[in-house]
Amino acid sequence: MAEFDTVIRNAVVATAADVFEADLGIADGVVAALGRRLGPARREIDAAGRYVLPGGIDTHCHFDQPMRDAVTLADDFLSGTVSAAHGGTTTVMPFACQLQGQSVRAAVEDYHRRAGRKPVIDYGFHLIVSDPTDTVLREELPALIREGYTSFKIYMTYETLKLSDRQIISVLALARHEGAMVMVHAENSDCIAWLTAELERQGKIAPYFHAVSRPQAVEREGTHRAITMSEIVDVPILLVHVSSADAVEQIRWAHGRGLKILAETCPQYLVLTAEHLQAPGFEGAKYICSRPARGGDAPAPPLLRGREQGTHRPQEVRGADGDQRGQDLRPLSEEGHRRRRLGRRPRDLGQGPGGRRHQRAAPPQL
Ligand SMILES: [Zn+2]
Repeated sequence: MAEFDTVIRNAVVATAADVFEADLGIADGVVAALGRRLGPARREIDAAGRYVLPGGIDTHCHFDQPMRDAVTLADDFLSGTVSAAHGGTTTVMPFACQLQGQSVRAAVEDYHRRAGRKPVIDYGFHLIVSDPTDTVLREELPALIREGYTSFKIYMTYETLKLSDRQIISVLALARHEGAMVMVHAENSDCIAWLTAELERQGKIAPYFHAVSRPQAVEREGTHRAITMSEIVDVPILLVHVSSADAVEQIRWAHGRGLKILAETCPQYLVLTAEHLQAPGFEGAKYICSRPARGGDAPAPPLLRGREQGTHRPQEVRGADGDQRGQDLRPLSEEGHRRRRLGRRPRDLGQGPGGRRHQRAAPPQL
């Protein structure tokens, strides 16, 4: 009788102590032995010269989530998990999203139906809580947490998802009481709404202005507010898709005070900049995500002009010839500002780089 179900031979294995070549013996779905000349096994795989790694766990992805404006997500539970498996990820944690007026229990059942028999790898759900009614807080969430749904995401922005500060603090208190982890999308919703309206009023609707409507300050303030509420309730939180140095500064500040603030970033913030949003035509729309990618050489367009000019950093708002640039709203990163040549007049990006007015892109609610 075979000693193992599977033996992977001649694998390069990295443990906490060393990197070495070994056979892996697998029995009942777990690695049961590491050694040389293991066996016999029912199935043998030769991995000579290759690293053999544990499967990855993707703790933040969205599958088959209904979106507004007739937008549908590209991935469902089949395509998403097949794609994950090809990248070496063997467990995913997508979201079961409560719609306003819906019970969280109904949302969980809905997403189990959506998943059905499609996933090809292990999966679980975080919950998205968009409507924390008394029933949700007192009955549904405690019951779901006891069943193992121990993490949920809440939003400080997006009309159909955002919670008020009072609702956020209620959810955090519940998480503390029941032992759950709350993931927070931290941005200042009202500032985004005002900036968006102001840009639209000026006809600045090309994809690039998505980034302008969500400057680092908006993320920094939301991050600080989320940290403050976490401190008041004394419960750890996980800040999701941190995209800016300003937000990291707030997280460091919290750590310095001994607060347990966890944070993640996403690959798009490591490989894209706001410049990608300026691709010709409507191409830039492909790079829209919220928060937006930061930095790059994209110019900082003025939002306010003339007598409305503010007084922050006055030495930076004068060009070489001394005329005012009207740059008291500074949507790009500090690096972006430094790179911007002061002698150049700000370009009006209302028409987009191709000179053609662009369709407006709806930001994804992720
Ligand atoms: Zn998300």
